[in-house]
Amino acid sequence: NHDHIKYLISYVENEHTLSKEDLITLLNSEYTDEICKAADRVRKKFVGDVVHLRGLIEISNYCCRTCYYCGLRVYNKSIKRYRMNENEILQCAKATKDAGLKTVVLQGGEDKYFKIKDLCNIVEKIKDLDLSITLSIGELTTKEYADLKKAGADRYLLRIETTNRDLYKKFHPNMSFDNRVRCLMDLKELGYEVGTGCLIGLPGQTLDMLAEDILFFKEIDADMIGMGPFIPTPNTPLENKKGGNVDLVLKMIALTRLLLPDINMPATTALGVKAENGYLQGLRAGANVIMPNMGLNEYKKLYALYPGKTSDDGSKVVNDIENIKKLIISENRIIGHDKGDRKKIWKNP
Ligand code: SAM
Ligand code: SF4
Repeated sequence: NHDHIKYLISYVENEHTLSKEDLITLLNSEYTDEICKAADRVRKKFVGDVVHLRGLIEISNYCCRTCYYCGLRVYNKSIKRYRMNENEILQCAKATKDAGLKTVVLQGGEDKYFKIKDLCNIVEKIKDLDLSITLSIGELTTKEYADLKKAGADRYLLRIETTNRDLYKKFHPNMSFDNRVRCLMDLKELGYEVGTGCLIGLPGQTLDMLAEDILFFKEIDADMIGMGPFIPTPNTPLENKKGGNVDLVLKMIALTRLLLPDINMPATTALGVKAENGYLQGLRAGANVIMPNMGLNEYKKLYALYPGKTSDDGSKVVNDIENIKKLIISENRIIGHDKGDRKKIWKNP
């Protein structure tokens, strides 16, 4: 068994492909360290030691959606809602630039208050600062994605959350898996760099489903993958469920790096919240991106997808820019100074 696992690890390290059965074997194994070390070598070989910093600005916590796991879901009446105005967003974008970062990520719930025209206007103004722009504001129409692209948006993050249709349906009432896939296809077609990803540890999720998730990322040739543990959130239908397992998250990150060697992949905030030294563990398992929160302090605690995101929450996660820079240097990694686009060097066979 040990020999077989070792064989699989060295095979995927060289070939960057693996069957579903073999993925499940590795996800099920106790060889997390070995898998992460192989992923770390592949990360170094394909994308080097640079860690790209993306300044996250959480523009609104209003959301019309129903995702069972998320504290921003429309039926959660217990949180105070906010949305940033244009000036506030631009002020944060400038602060991001001043901190030496080259990308801003505008993320929010699906807040129908924002008109696409206004968002395009904000995108254009941020482009004037010579920053790359990533959007993460959920499912839109083809035309809306096209307009935002034309305004200057470069990248888009939309996690599939789970590729298992039944699980998707269970946790997303009145939402459509097919529409989510349609969005990802549109974004690719329009020339965005496309990021997707999944939650790890959703109730009822199996290793089989997670292996399928990784194969889906490869199949659509995603440019970025963000994954983190599911963290139970008060006042949501899953509040009493068990959260995702850190060891499994690390194996998922590592295997994704091994199968998609040249993508950009963050050590996510959720991993930072859930694990001791979560960012470091992510960086050692194949991640090459961190997304420091560059939003306004008054809003950070209101963007409560899950508990533990801010220090008011008793959090140990250091997601302020200065600490993250120190962490990268202490790891002998390099802080990115360019825009950090995906460098396509691996041709998906
Ligand atoms: N509304 C947009 C969307 O859903 O694509 C962007 C914002 S949404 C809050 C960003 C991500 O947060 C989701 O894709 C989901 O995976 C993650 N998330 C939400 N609730 C979570 C939880 N309880 N634990 C871990 N991650 C969570
Ligand atoms: Fe809304 Fe995104 Fe949360 Fe779903 S995950 S409820 S779409 S903010």
